[in-house]
Amino acid sequence: MVSGVDSGADERLPDWVIWRQRPFPDANLLLIDGREPALVDSGFVGHAQRTAEWVRAHSGNLTRVVNTHWHADHVGGNGLLQAGGAGIAAGAPDADAIARRDPGCCAAEYLDQPVAPYTVDEPLDDGQLLRLGDADWEVLHTPGHTPGHVALWQPEERLLVVGDALSDYDVGWVNLALDGPDAATTAVASLQRLADLEPRVLLPAHGPIPAEPTAAFAAALRRGRRLVDDPDGAIWYGARRIFAFALMIRGGISADEVESYLLARAWLVDAAALLRRTPETLAAELIDTMIRSGAVVVRDNRLHAAAEYSPVMPETLQAPFPRAWPAPAGRRGL
Ligand SMILES: [Zn+2]
Repeated sequence: MVSGVDSGADERLPDWVIWRQRPFPDANLLLIDGREPALVDSGFVGHAQRTAEWVRAHSGNLTRVVNTHWHADHVGGNGLLQAGGAGIAAGAPDADAIARRDPGCCAAEYLDQPVAPYTVDEPLDDGQLLRLGDADWEVLHTPGHTPGHVALWQPEERLLVVGDALSDYDVGWVNLALDGPDAATTAVASLQRLADLEPRVLLPAHGPIPAEPTAAFAAALRRGRRLVDDPDGAIWYGARRIFAFALMIRGGISADEVESYLLARAWLVDAAALLRRTPETLAAELIDTMIRSGAVVVRDNRLHAAAEYSPVMPETLQAPFPRAWPAPAGRRGL
């Protein structure tokens, strides 16, 4: 069973859009039904089976999975759904990197977030029209949270799928170490472009559907500009999100091992350099501030993420990193 509640008769959504909010480590489920059923994002690898079952329960054969971006909580079901016959569509830069098995794919190794192997059948460019369900959707390249991030716009219904560009409560975190010092400025420009569409309904990949799209954009833009003005704050924000995700997918990390876990992570070492600290200092400070803020709780000598999440079976974390993925079998095209 997938935890969460189906959108059911959400009066804001047409009946061919089926949406279910899911806690971390999964992106929300979004199915666009019709002659070409499409799923937007496919959750975490540890819950791929549940994702596939949910799709089967709500639709016929899936034509496509569209990825808003390649983070592990958005592409984990790709491999399984692709094996079942769905094509995978993703932003062109991500598609190229996936095709050559670039070790940086999905930032999987960098963030220590496993992803099952997949290939991209359909690279997406800005402005391209995609038939999802029975409607045409426009692909919008919206870099910031990741360089290849895309959003999807359905102009008749004024529906806007925003991935991790923003949620009801926040702007997506940015990775200044991987994507450069302008990542936050880029994210704000993408947010503004999305806000200018004045959508009727915003569909974020995490959290609820915002009651007021305008208010959600205003809050996200405020937060985004703060990330631009305070790069150190942006790095801290990212580090807290990455660490919380690690705790969730591992069912917590032993208090005796957590420092050595963090010190072995590329993202922690990079963040420490940008924050002008040693990795040891940053690891200790990160643990300390997150315990003090209540974002991390210590139970039975283990550190756990305090936020709601669905547990993951440890064996599902065994997926190889992209550098070890088998070569793509060749694009099937759609
Ligand atoms: Zn993301």
